[in-house]
Amino acid sequence: MYVQEITLEISPDLEMELMIDEFNWLMSNYHKNGQVANGGHTQLVIGNRIACLLYTLERDSLDSKNNNIHVNKQIKRLEDLCGKKLDIRTLGTNNPGHKEVCSCEKPSNYMLTALCFSRDSALMCGDCRLSIPLYRLPKTEDESYLSILNWQLSSMVIEGYEIINLKNEKVPELSNNYLTAIDDLGFDVCAKIELLTGIPTRLFQKLGKEKENRRNNKSHPGKEMTT
Ligand SMILES: [Zn+2]
Repeated sequence: MYVQEITLEISPDLEMELMIDEFNWLMSNYHKNGQVANGGHTQLVIGNRIACLLYTLERDSLDSKNNNIHVNKQIKRLEDLCGKKLDIRTLGTNNPGHKEVCSCEKPSNYMLTALCFSRDSALMCGDCRLSIPLYRLPKTEDESYLSILNWQLSSMVIEGYEIINLKNEKVPELSNNYLTAIDDLGFDVCAKIELLTGIPTRLFQKLGKEKENRRNNKSHPGKEMTT
């Protein structure tokens, strides 16, 4: 992962609270385009600047070549309002020498993943098992990968809860409705990715075994890990 810093100088005639909202909208657009790694970002006001630290999958994830129309539009709006350029710089990596992103020329298949407590992309290369940054995919109609990101976040919350409480009888078990809904959504998202990319995409169910051994052993009937 690369640690990036984004800062913007706010001129004194602008209201800081409003500019923070505008800045947040940029971060939201970066997120929806898959340019910011999973796990959120900081946002601080330092003097007359809004400063943000965040993780990205690649050194150049925030490069303009990866932007979509929504990101470009909001950068322009911020820069027009402030009369200053957005300053984006790479501070470094938190895992030097470690390969985290797929560089296969033509992956034969993708896997949709939601590994708890991970900052990896929701999409993994089925050949090298490394992250596929979402901004590499063909653009969707609304230039957003929110359906993939929403599935990933929901899965992480649900499966994280399951893992933490697997052996704790005192904690209420999640309704099977959640597990069924998240799997159904996962299969649906896989189908959409396959349609978008033409690359076979399947759901990677890391917790298959744990699900079989749920506390009351009443997990919903398994589905094939294919779309
Ligand atoms: Zn690969």
